[in-house]
Amino acid sequence: MTKDQITKFLLSTSPEVLLKTANEVRVQYCGKVVYIRGLVEFSNHCCRQCLYCGLRAENKTLQRYRMTHDEIMETVCRIAKDSIGTVVLQSGDDFSYTRNDISTLVRDIKREFPHMAVTLSIGERSLDDYQAFRDNGADRYLLKHETINEKLYACLHPGQELKDRLMRLDHLRKLGYQVGIGNIVGLPGQTIQDLVDDILFIQDFQPDMIGISPFISQNDTPLRDMVSPDLSLVLRCIALARIVTKNAHIPSATAVNTLDPDRGDALALTSGANVLMVSYTPIRNRPHYQIYSGKKSLELDRALEMISAVGCKACLKRGDSLKYSQETENVHTAVGNPAPKIPSA
Ligand code: SAH
Repeated sequence: MTKDQITKFLLSTSPEVLLKTANEVRVQYCGKVVYIRGLVEFSNHCCRQCLYCGLRAENKTLQRYRMTHDEIMETVCRIAKDSIGTVVLQSGDDFSYTRNDISTLVRDIKREFPHMAVTLSIGERSLDDYQAFRDNGADRYLLKHETINEKLYACLHPGQELKDRLMRLDHLRKLGYQVGIGNIVGLPGQTIQDLVDDILFIQDFQPDMIGISPFISQNDTPLRDMVSPDLSLVLRCIALARIVTKNAHIPSATAVNTLDPDRGDALALTSGANVLMVSYTPIRNRPHYQIYSGKKSLELDRALEMISAVGCKACLKRGDSLKYSQETENVHTAVGNPAPKIPSA
């Protein structure tokens, strides 16, 4: 898509055609299937100062926790018992888990549950760390670019630079990870032009996974008084990300559900999203993984209910990237229609 097309869609007052087209592209390239991932938020310690995030190091009011190796293994065991084929291990940027700690964890998960895919989402580490995690079996890495506007990025992430994040993304891909990127929609200071550039970056990078979430303020951050965007703008971004990547895995972010607990997930799933993240973070830790205020968690029962409510089937298998897997071809041949045409804005 061109810059002009994307801009028109983001500004249009009637997004129905865009959302419908994204849904058709989703069905065409990913099937009427929603993939389920088991999410473990294993530490809320963080050395960064991201202005929007409640885990930021300077937030002294947050009660911090770290799960031990055994606690994490027990949690992964619960995910396996529910027959879910992917675990997403997420944390703040917490270097108290050494290269060896994470490598051992990944290796042990792979040994106990050989068919389980492991996604890491633990922020910016050294390239040698990424190599070690991959060597020990990590399959995927989620490192959202947050915003592709360099100045805004620098402003929101004191001490960090966008180019370092992008360099890591290229490196993760070279190491053979399935890579996830994505932006936050509605960040203070962000313009529609910035969002257009985010979509163009997604189009250019062609990631395996995309996490797009609305900004939601957290009460103990400098951005506490800032408002969230309309759900409609978030849905348009998800829809555009779907159209420009066709078969990337796109979760309905927890923040979408928090923004609109009644309809958020269902709307995302009918506007291009094809993945749900179910929380397996121990109940006692959940209130403290407060990246934003009012964060909700999704349970497996509710996820399954919602998937059938939107007329899809749940897939609990690993659900690897459709960019390379056999599944893509199956979807194409099974459906067999030409790709939907992108409507004019
Ligand atoms: N340390 C890891 C994981 C961070 S938390 C990393 O840097 O990748 C996971 C995601 O939560 C972030 O990538 C960010 O996009 C999102 N997030 C954090 N604070 C948020 C907020 N206030 N509103 C919406 N999303 C937020």
